[in-house]
Amino acid sequence: MFNPVRWILTSIRRKAITGLLIILLSAVFLIGLSIVSQARKFILAEVQRRASSVARFVGTDLASALSYTDPKSAVSDIVYRISQDPSVIYASVFDVNGRVISQASSRSEDEVIRSLPLGELYDLQPDEVRYHVSDTVLEVYRSTVMAQGRQKYIILLGFDITDVSSIVAKITRLIAFNAFIVYIFGLLALIAAVNRLTEPLTDLTSGIKDLGLGKLPKPVPVRGSDEVGTLSLSFNKMIEDLRQYRQEVERYQKHLEDMVGERTVALNAANVELTRINESLKAANEKLLELDKLKSNFLGIATHELKTPLSVVGGYLDSLQDGFAGELNDAQKGIVSETLSSCHRMEALISDMLDLNRIEAGRMPMELMEMPVIHVVQKVAGQMIPLLQKKKLTLDIREENMELPARFDEDRITQVLVNLVSNAIKFTPQGGRISVSAKRGAGKGHSFFQISVADTGIGISEEDLPRIFEEFAQVGEPGKEEGTGLGLAICLRIVKAHEGRIWAESVLGQGTTFHFTLPLA
Ligand code: ADP
Repeated sequence: MFNPVRWILTSIRRKAITGLLIILLSAVFLIGLSIVSQARKFILAEVQRRASSVARFVGTDLASALSYTDPKSAVSDIVYRISQDPSVIYASVFDVNGRVISQASSRSEDEVIRSLPLGELYDLQPDEVRYHVSDTVLEVYRSTVMAQGRQKYIILLGFDITDVSSIVAKITRLIAFNAFIVYIFGLLALIAAVNRLTEPLTDLTSGIKDLGLGKLPKPVPVRGSDEVGTLSLSFNKMIEDLRQYRQEVERYQKHLEDMVGERTVALNAANVELTRINESLKAANEKLLELDKLKSNFLGIATHELKTPLSVVGGYLDSLQDGFAGELNDAQKGIVSETLSSCHRMEALISDMLDLNRIEAGRMPMELMEMPVIHVVQKVAGQMIPLLQKKKLTLDIREENMELPARFDEDRITQVLVNLVSNAIKFTPQGGRISVSAKRGAGKGHSFFQISVADTGIGISEEDLPRIFEEFAQVGEPGKEEGTGLGLAICLRIVKAHEGRIWAESVLGQGTTFHFTLPLA
């Protein structure tokens, strides 16, 4: 519903017009009122002046009439005479006790007596005049004293002042009309002034509203150099700054878009190049895999074909050594023994290569069983006794935790342990110590079994350590010990096939520890 008070309060223009309208209306009304009351006062004063002079004359006449022998008829004459004046409505003469001496009036004597302000008249000084004014009558009281000064009489004259009221009404109408004209002009002037004053504010408000909506407003007209003018100037300056800032941002955004476009083009080109390289890499990889397969096949065939004649050669050499073809002299024995040991090395190499080849080709299936590791460790320790004795080394088996059942292929894990322990024997100088231990571990969500083989041998340098699990990797001083460089590569593949991990820690000159993990049963 329309609320006029709210409607006025929501606009500074409407508030100013309403406020000033009320002030203008009050001012016009008060000025009109004061003019009317002043005019009435002025006219009344004039009438009073006239009435007073009439009363003075009557008073003088009355004073002389009272000294006559028949004062009552003389007084009546005077009263009658004065009542003939058209402006006099009534005339009375009475004493201070309110006793009417003579009167000329349409009112009864009682009525006159009741209306007299006797208390007030009692104090009336000789020749003093008092007035009582009502809307239609002006009453004039005047006292007069007999010649001897003994008796005081009062004359009351009632003058008709209805004319005064009608003149005042006329003046009032005239003033009201003029006030209305003044009011209309004042109103127009006021609206124009308020409009002039509030227009810049309205412009500024709509500009700020536009800003709030994210639009860039037009500059507002600057009217005058007062506070509002200064505000308009500052607003325009702000808009100009904002416009420039927006242009700058747009320019920068465009620049950024261009840059992004350029980069995208470059990235696309790089991507195309990468895809091309990737494809050629893929092709090369496929080629390599093919070659690797060929190599494996070749190695498989070659090693297999080598194995049979080599075992025949080995057999003959064994027979020669055993004196099957007659007693050999020392030189012949030396040659046969050297050839036999080379033959054994070749057999070991071929066997390692065959193993590696089989694992890579997936032809070595793991037969997983659950059993305690101690079983394998003790078996390997038994096999190693001759070698250990030969080099005067101690093998320490820490059986703690080894009773725990793990899941593994017995032959393959035996192969891993044989490799690690024989390496430890190989690379530990005489009198050294080798230890095998086990512990339980936990990784990301699963438990495992960790077996460690530690020695007090020559150790592996930090830079060689990452290479030792590569095929044919033989690190350290060349030719220090015999070997194929395939043992650890085979270990790595076997442990991985058990979903375990193998790694080494070593300090050059102090010793090496190999660790590998197996899944717990
Ligand atoms: P190899 O038949 O030569 O022993 P491996 O693969 O078993 O081949 O070992 C690779 C190389 O790692 C070895 O030649 C040796 O240099 C180094 N190595 C392995 N085990 C040890 C160890 N316990 N102490 C020092 N060096 C070791």
